[in-house]
Amino acid sequence: MEQSIENKLIKADHTFSEWKKVPFEERQELISKAVEILKNHSGKYGEMITMEMNKPISQSIAEVEKCALMMNYYAKSEDVLKPEKVDSEYAFSEIHYIPKGVILGVMPWNFPFWQVLRFAVPAILSGNTVVLKHASICFGSGNAIEKVFEEAGFPEGVFQNLEVGHREVKEILEHETIKGVSLTGSGKAGGEVASIAGLNIKKSLLELGGSDAFIVLDDADLDEAAKTGAWARLQNCGQTCVAAKRFIIEEKIEDEFLPKFIEEYKKYTPGDPMNKDTKLAGMARPDLADDLEGQFKKALEHGAEIIIPLERISDTEFKPGLIRVKEGNPILQEELFGPLGMVMIAQNDHEALQMANDIPFGLSNSVWTKNRERQQFFIEGLESGTVNINRMTSSDPRFPFGGTKASGYGTELSLLALKEFVTAKTIVGN
Ligand code: NDP
Repeated sequence: MEQSIENKLIKADHTFSEWKKVPFEERQELISKAVEILKNHSGKYGEMITMEMNKPISQSIAEVEKCALMMNYYAKSEDVLKPEKVDSEYAFSEIHYIPKGVILGVMPWNFPFWQVLRFAVPAILSGNTVVLKHASICFGSGNAIEKVFEEAGFPEGVFQNLEVGHREVKEILEHETIKGVSLTGSGKAGGEVASIAGLNIKKSLLELGGSDAFIVLDDADLDEAAKTGAWARLQNCGQTCVAAKRFIIEEKIEDEFLPKFIEEYKKYTPGDPMNKDTKLAGMARPDLADDLEGQFKKALEHGAEIIIPLERISDTEFKPGLIRVKEGNPILQEELFGPLGMVMIAQNDHEALQMANDIPFGLSNSVWTKNRERQQFFIEGLESGTVNINRMTSSDPRFPFGGTKASGYGTELSLLALKEFVTAKTIVGN
């Protein structure tokens, strides 16, 4: 490991020994200051995001604003880490929540500010310090976030960006100063990082891919479902873990719903990412566009039918595609991380549920029906960390966020995230 990187780990560890003693409310005051910085400079940070990974500027600015909202939630949150008294026959018995130390974040490029801050803010508020290994195309965002913490007045070493490639993660994670790791990204990266953490008996949290269903039943508001469905697939150029990727349509409404959906879908054509009216731009990297094109071909080879062709118009840009896929197509076992949607037709609610669950992932599903009993059937049956009724998935700081199955483990957001990187220490005595 380069000496400059090891020095940062040692600094993070030294800072931890003081930071853990800072009262919760004082940590919250610093978070409030960081909120103001993000709000006042959302345009500047938005430009950084767009320059690094091509996201349309209006969506980049919205990402920064959402970070401010999330941080404000934590700046005002209840202190759930206060010592808790437990009723018992002993003179005293309590639970104390002890921060673990330096936590490594391995983060992706698709939401360069949100993914980092979603992990780092609750970890830091709990008394930990953080070092970041950002995606290799997002070092600018990583440095900008480090400056936000610095300008807000956090002690040096509470949050540091490490400009390292993924090959260096193993050695960093094995370093004695690192006490846990949170990774958002692909299953491959997640599996490798979690194995290293496991071998070294360090806690890991994984937020991985998904292939969420967007189920439309015959009593839904079809206009709203069509419009929301297109956005749910195509925002951020389809590069969202909780994007709607499989549209499961009840057979009875196929002829009515599909034309509406296609019309909404075709409104998205690639434009200049720096233009504030652009809703769709290129993908983050040409190799990711190559991968998506390969998956499109693979789906067709296994019997998928084209509803709207996926048309590549530059190294990173596509006119979005839509395919009809039947059960058994191996593409259903993969995440399509770009502007390509899948349509499946279900005869009834039972078949729709079975199709929705028949994948390796379990992140977040969306169901469109006005009928409370049908809603309940899907709420109970869907194997995912989140179920949305008559709305698309979008995370909210107040609610837990995390997956089942190959989508990962652990909880982000909400008050629960404050307890991810702490040890619950039992104190019992007479
Ligand atoms: P990766 O999962 O490879 O990258 C995410 C982060 O993990 C980056 O910081 C990356 O670093 C790091 N990383 C990659 N491999 C390892 C490893 N072996 N050990 C430690 N760290 C590692 O995503 P890609 O950019 O390659 O995208 C590939 C696919 O991953 C996408 O098509 C999509 O399916 C999925 N993905 C899902 C995301 C989600 O939010 N669920 C987010 C991003 C991707 P570096 O940049 O240096 O390689």
